[in-house]
Amino acid sequence: MKLVFWLLAAVLPVLAQSTRDLNDLNWMEVRELVPAKVQTVLLPTGTLEAHGVANNGADNTAPVAIARDMAAGINALVAPAVNYGVTGSLDAYAGGFTISEPAYRAFMTDVLAGYARNGFKNIIVINGHGGPQTAILNDLTEKIGREYRVRTLVVNWWAYCSDVTVKVFGEDGGHAGWNENAFIQAINPKLVHPERYKDSLATPRPPAGTWSAYPFPSSIILYQPNQGYVKFDQARADAYYKAVVEKMTALAKDTIAKWDDSGIFVK
Ligand SMILES: [Zn+2]
Repeated sequence: MKLVFWLLAAVLPVLAQSTRDLNDLNWMEVRELVPAKVQTVLLPTGTLEAHGVANNGADNTAPVAIARDMAAGINALVAPAVNYGVTGSLDAYAGGFTISEPAYRAFMTDVLAGYARNGFKNIIVINGHGGPQTAILNDLTEKIGREYRVRTLVVNWWAYCSDVTVKVFGEDGGHAGWNENAFIQAINPKLVHPERYKDSLATPRPPAGTWSAYPFPSSIILYQPNQGYVKFDQARADAYYKAVVEKMTALAKDTIAKWDDSGIFVK
């Protein structure tokens, strides 16, 4: 019996551990896994800000779920999320937070460097929040990649999958619009509140140079006029979630394969 067990353990590619969540692994497990068996970490980043009738932490809920569902397909571990971010004009709504850019930069630099020092070769940031945060993450990951000779990828899931939004819903989405609300509905229907929804909670994003307001008058911000108003359709929400995770996984796989083929930062 014992022999069979050890033979199996040796043959099984990854993971003898029951979880890919770095929060839940102990140091001996991590030491055995990284980098010998796992070279990739998925780091979810988000923020706390109003999201229409979805939870304030929607930008954390989404990338955490994506990372967990991507991890096995690309043989990655999942880092604890960075739940506080650089929010912007919705920080005035109840429960909202924004971290100042210098503080966020300093903190995120150390988080990213920490994963590089822990031996991960590929650091993939699954970003759940746009606004000013995206440019900061792009900048920091490039710097960390260069300094530590690690490969980094930042993906804004809703933007990368905007074609999936149009395909599933037949129209464009919005911040806390149908697409993002549906994504949360797919993860946990209890986090969205149809009984509180009305279309007047949404405002189309103003065309560049026309007007701006602080705080923005709605937390649901439509990318196109007359598109993305929230509806509650569990089947479409589930289909959207599945297609997004597939597209995100394919991008990560393809990017890692191309880094490997090019011999980039291969020891
Ligand atoms: Zn969001």
